[in-house]
Amino acid sequence: MLVLVINSGSSSLKYQVRDVDAGTVITEGLIERIGLGNGGGGDGEAIGPRDHAEALDHVDRALHEVLGDRAIDAVGHRVVHGGERFSEPVLANNEIIRAIERLNPLAPLHNPANVLGLRAIASKWPDMPQVAVFDTAFHRTIPEHAWRYAVPEWFYTHHGIRRYGFHGTSHEYVSRRAAALLGLAPEAFDGVVLHLGNGASATAVAGGKSVDTSMGFTPLEGLVMGTRSGDVDPSILVFLARQGHSADEIDSLLNRESGLRALAGSNDMRTVVEAAEAGDRKAEVALDVASYRLAKYVGAYHVSVGGAKAIVFTAGIGENSVAFRARVVARLGALGVVLDGDRNAERSKEPRVISAPGSAIPVLVVPTDEERAIAEATAAVVRAAVPS
Ligand code: AMP
Repeated sequence: MLVLVINSGSSSLKYQVRDVDAGTVITEGLIERIGLGNGGGGDGEAIGPRDHAEALDHVDRALHEVLGDRAIDAVGHRVVHGGERFSEPVLANNEIIRAIERLNPLAPLHNPANVLGLRAIASKWPDMPQVAVFDTAFHRTIPEHAWRYAVPEWFYTHHGIRRYGFHGTSHEYVSRRAAALLGLAPEAFDGVVLHLGNGASATAVAGGKSVDTSMGFTPLEGLVMGTRSGDVDPSILVFLARQGHSADEIDSLLNRESGLRALAGSNDMRTVVEAAEAGDRKAEVALDVASYRLAKYVGAYHVSVGGAKAIVFTAGIGENSVAFRARVVARLGALGVVLDGDRNAERSKEPRVISAPGSAIPVLVVPTDEERAIAEATAAVVRAAVPS
């Protein structure tokens, strides 16, 4: 089955075509500056489509060149927010698309773009099966004691303010692969999964299910990220508002100008590690703050899952940053966790163990692949709905 995976942002559209049965990527691409006009961009290609429908025309032409007469069988969409309704991938009809649209206030930067992508495909290829795969779905198993904030009831009943969690597709995929690496059934996996990319989150997985995660009502809560603050005292926002900063300014300060960028001047972990190794004190402090915060979450989630059987690193930083992994694990001595320096330094695209044989909890690196997970989920939903 050929599945087109779409990840639409407000002004960009990432796509990948996968042959799910062969497990291969046929082609992929990125369309940028949607709705932003020409913008004087100089790369000569796909400059500023008017809207998502026009962006899809570009994709259609690009696919035709690669696929010839082979047709796409289904489209899988990454949808950021599934609210409380969606706990698994669903076949997207008009009612489902409207339900996703009603969740727009919960993810104002992301869900409207996802809806545009779904509608653009529905009008371009009306008979194409489309599946929505939600970033929040894996976390629908989080119990109330972990998702509820200790605030007045109407925050939740009127505004849906609770903890939702994100990166669910990645956490679920990585949990399953980690279980396989340890020779466990997925439902026997208890562990802490650390998705460390530009956005970062930790998830406590017990019995193969998410029981807590560090992102909350929005993807701002939790760990120190590339440009996001993660946890802060909420009174800081009130203080800044009283100092005359607008809601939009505070939003931007915490989401785009905080995290590693604020502490070290760069949101790229490679740059921060190099600067620290060259003796830059700010970069050193940034790595200390980020690794300390992460280690605290690992300790907490070890408790949440009733004793982790694995600590798993994934995504850009988790898969590649030897130095950052070493700093995090060095803080886990109280749990009896010991890294193997040589294994940690090895470069590989395969799931692997990087802890020493005597480590009380194995430490793994398991590459994530959200597109593959979305394509496989899409194929499964379509096959179940339309038996061949
Ligand atoms: P992602 O959002 O998963 O693409 O991850 C982006 C983050 O991964 C950035 O902070 C990069 O600096 C980091 N990253 C990517 N490759 C490496 C690498 N080889 N070493 C250290 N960090 C890396």
